[in-house]
Amino acid sequence: MRVVVAGAVMVDGRLLLAQRDRPAPVAGLWELPGGKVETGETPVQALVRELREELGVEVAPGAPLTARVPLTADLILVALRAELVTGTPRPLDHRALCWVDGDDLRRLADAGEVVPADTAWLPELCDLLDGG
Ligand code: C5P
Repeated sequence: MRVVVAGAVMVDGRLLLAQRDRPAPVAGLWELPGGKVETGETPVQALVRELREELGVEVAPGAPLTARVPLTADLILVALRAELVTGTPRPLDHRALCWVDGDDLRRLADAGEVVPADTAWLPELCDLLDGG
């Protein structure tokens, strides 16, 4: 089983979303940035590497979000909260970045603009953003 790890980076009550550039079915949709855990890496190490590569920042991964999302028979998607330690996120591998509050996130999801797998985290992300 391979693992894809994504990061929930929150600053001042807003969550960082990244707009995918590829592949076509999800291009233009918003996701929590991340990527595949490589052999010999822990999910924490993979998230630090991926967010360094994709956003140009250093993060400190923290607690996992509850939902674990099967993507395929041998690929599972998990998310960790991640504290921004240094740097300002830049879209090095995405089309764009944005910071959303709970209402923004609900609006994007209602409009079908969130990567389908990532909608599993909407309830807990909205709770966190709404101050729950
Ligand atoms: O980003 P990357 O292409 O490495 O992601 C690997 C797989 O995980 C892809 O199928 C992608 O759509 C999925 N993914 C996802 N949600 C994320 C990050 C990746 O569904 N937040």
